[in-house]
Amino acid sequence: HKYSKNEIKEIIAKENVQFLRLQFTDVFGTIKNVEVPVSQVDKVLNNKMMFDGSSIDGFVRIEESDMYLYPDLDTFMIFPWATDENGGKVARLIADIYTVDHQPFAGDPRSNLKRVLKDMQKRGFKEFNLGTEPEFFLFKMDENGEPTMKLNDHGGYFDLAPLDLGENTRREIVLEMEKMGFEVEAAHHEVAPGQHEVDFKYSDALDAADNIQTFKIIVKTIARKHGLYATFLPKPVTGINGNGMHVNMSLFNENGNIFYNESDELQLSEEAYQFMGGILEHAASFTAITNPTVNSYKRLTPGFEAPVYVAWSASNRSPMVRIPAARGNSTRLELRSVDPTANPYTAFAAILTAGLDGLDRELTPNHAVDQNIYLMDENERKRAGITNLPDTLLAALDQFEEDETMVDALGKNMANTFVAAKRVEYASYRQHVSQWEIDTYIQQY
Ligand code: GLN
Ligand code: MG
Ligand code: MG
Ligand code: MG
Repeated sequence: HKYSKNEIKEIIAKENVQFLRLQFTDVFGTIKNVEVPVSQVDKVLNNKMMFDGSSIDGFVRIEESDMYLYPDLDTFMIFPWATDENGGKVARLIADIYTVDHQPFAGDPRSNLKRVLKDMQKRGFKEFNLGTEPEFFLFKMDENGEPTMKLNDHGGYFDLAPLDLGENTRREIVLEMEKMGFEVEAAHHEVAPGQHEVDFKYSDALDAADNIQTFKIIVKTIARKHGLYATFLPKPVTGINGNGMHVNMSLFNENGNIFYNESDELQLSEEAYQFMGGILEHAASFTAITNPTVNSYKRLTPGFEAPVYVAWSASNRSPMVRIPAARGNSTRLELRSVDPTANPYTAFAAILTAGLDGLDRELTPNHAVDQNIYLMDENERKRAGITNLPDTLLAALDQFEEDETMVDALGKNMANTFVAAKRVEYASYRQHVSQWEIDTYIQQY
């Protein structure tokens, strides 16, 4: 372990930490937190902090509402920016949720991911390593601090200032991340105006999920400081690229990355192909988890560098799974469909379960598709065995529910809660009459 309880208490005293924030993530990916004065540190570190679970969407009924927060000591981190007038700081710990009977709570996405990872370890694997590429937009804010739909620049891919007005904001995001222990590998302007990407070093699935949640807090906090509003919404603006969150994955055992095999044509191992076979097999059914909002499906459309079809390639970027060029211990599969509204804990649980199912069943993926899928017609796609990702949240939910393996990846309870809430969300969307309908139909009918 990185820190003991005593070490945390020493750091708290030395760094003048005044408040402790206990963070967790609900089923829908929303980050929740409770803040306590540092006088409560013993209670926090001894798993004695309670909260009312019935007040969190998708958690429990009122009759069984008391829950415990068990902090994961390794996630201790001091926020570099949050100071009061006396220089007091705020630290955070990410917590797992336990029931009154001191059992891991089945509706806690983080505990569930741990369960799935334990299952992976029982099969002899050591780590599921993930490197993610979350994208976001920076919008201007109005005088009242409310987000507007005005993008903050007209830059494009890898552009420099003055086109890239987000540069200072992005740079400060990177500096704050480094202060918090992130290893940032690259930060750049993305293809769309006002769009950015920050890539940080891969880590095992649990850390990777924690990091994504922390990253979102940092980005939103620093953007606000610069008078900008950061959003990870998959498709905030019609007609330009949306926000994806590519997930680069590899599976390690004691000897390293098992996806690498020198002697294969593509230098991929049998396990890599089977894992990918599982990803392709379950892709349509885990899309509800990796792309969980109505808006997600506005991104998964042709022409904007986001995938629409279930296929893989080692050489081109249009398919859903790509094999980046690096080999050896960096051999990995890149899943390009995921977007940043996904709850990273449930998304990684689903993706890993899909891959492991591929290993269990020794699934072999269809042939790689090395031509541009968007230039193929439906018959050509059919002949190549290429299927479609679901095109609405509703279709995605239907497919998810039919796939028992994916439902089990979340656990039945959490899966049911998720689907029920998302169906309500979709029904509300369906009842809304949009500007597009008015513009398209009102004069015609
Ligand atoms: N923004 C694109 C998406 O929606 C990805 C662009 C890229 O990183 N090449 O997935
Ligand atoms: Mg990238
Ligand atoms: Mg990108
Ligand atoms: Mg990428």
